[in-house]
Amino acid sequence: MIRLRSSGLPSLAAAVLSCAAVAGAQTGEDSTAGLLRELIRANTSNPPGRTLLVDDVLAPRFRALGFEVKIIPTPDSGKAHIIARLRGDGSKRPLLIAAHADVVGVEREKWTVDPFEGVEKDGYVYGRGAIDVKGGLAVFARAAMMLAERKVPLARDVIFLSEADEESGGPYSTEWLAKEHWPDIDAEFALNEGGWIMKADDGHVRYVSISTADKLSIPLTITARGTSTHSSMPRPDNAIFALSRGMAKIAAYETPLTISPSTRRFFMALSKTSAAPMSEYYRDVVGNDPVKARRADSVVSRDPLLHALIRNTVAPVIINGGFRNNVIPGSAQAMINLRVVPGSDPAALVATLKQVAGDPGLEFSTGSRVYSGAPESSDTTALYRALEKEARATFPGAEVTPYLFQASTDAAAWRSRGVPVYGIYPYPIDADELTRMHGNDEKVSVASLKQGTEMIYRTLVDVAAKKATP
Ligand SMILES: [Zn+2]
Repeated sequence: MIRLRSSGLPSLAAAVLSCAAVAGAQTGEDSTAGLLRELIRANTSNPPGRTLLVDDVLAPRFRALGFEVKIIPTPDSGKAHIIARLRGDGSKRPLLIAAHADVVGVEREKWTVDPFEGVEKDGYVYGRGAIDVKGGLAVFARAAMMLAERKVPLARDVIFLSEADEESGGPYSTEWLAKEHWPDIDAEFALNEGGWIMKADDGHVRYVSISTADKLSIPLTITARGTSTHSSMPRPDNAIFALSRGMAKIAAYETPLTISPSTRRFFMALSKTSAAPMSEYYRDVVGNDPVKARRADSVVSRDPLLHALIRNTVAPVIINGGFRNNVIPGSAQAMINLRVVPGSDPAALVATLKQVAGDPGLEFSTGSRVYSGAPESSDTTALYRALEKEARATFPGAEVTPYLFQASTDAAAWRSRGVPVYGIYPYPIDADELTRMHGNDEKVSVASLKQGTEMIYRTLVDVAAKKATP
């Protein structure tokens, strides 16, 4: 908490006092829900991912508040990154808050509302991206705007970034931005999407997980070769059979438990917020007793997300071989997506799979790129500490824990350059709302948006505001 003195920094005092009193109050400020509805109306489904559309929503607001706004078009016209920088006095390095503005497409006929209308009903905002992650874009934008609205004196620049091209794996994501425009997004640390503010069935927040690392995604190709010939005279060296035998053995193989430090803490938090026997399984699966851990694994891993958090995973995604009915093809290929826990060795995993497949004739390749995971972000930085403190203050009784994100996010562009990134979807959600992400009738509650905006605003004040000198 910032100490207030009657003689010190009146605008900061006003900011902190008003943030204590703001919940539900009419402040005359824009609401996060209102901003989100406008962002949803800008259809940024990717492909084609026209993120330049959100510029009309965001840029005028930021400019009016004194932010320096920079639109960064990419070579694919319509895909743009938008940066809004609020200047501090430069005594500390910048803080970046970022979220992608593109969304995945929809199966329109399966929605009960227009997914691009920004419908608000029954206390929820509905629409594609409500959770992933236009809701986060709106929360981060509003929290940054509030710094300017309340004239909080800043010790560091606060850089808001609306990102292009995250959902399609396209070429103009933050990796491109970091390569081409690094000085614009360089920061001491950053916030992005990632962990969860998870509600229990009774509506109270059970835990807040802040992602400090992402799993590393690696494409593995397995190729089998045989004689290409007429299908009327099959030979023993059939490429499709050889590939199938190897794949069957890999299918029957389960990777060992591989627990990162953040995953251990996440499961301890799950354990504390669960009833027996699950509380014991969550504790045992990250514990030191291998027999108990194996037994717990068999229960915990029924949940595909938890299964993915505690090990490297192996998922076949594409299979190719053959082209017509009367030709035995000379080769067959399987593409496998590996997801690797940071700190474990991808080459060792590939070597193990080769051994499991048991056929020296099968070729295993991860291409020419060298894969190394970005380092896990420290939980001792001012930003992590502030997030932890404000999460506890906003959601009393909730466990707050670092978290290994099971997929990959835009964070790699910063983490790989040594900038710590913390991930959070900044609003309480429940299990049902989570399943709607990338699904149908995606929605986020207006109350959650308000709580999330308060939490992120206070975090920004903690980390970026000039402190009153004692
Ligand atoms: Zn996302």
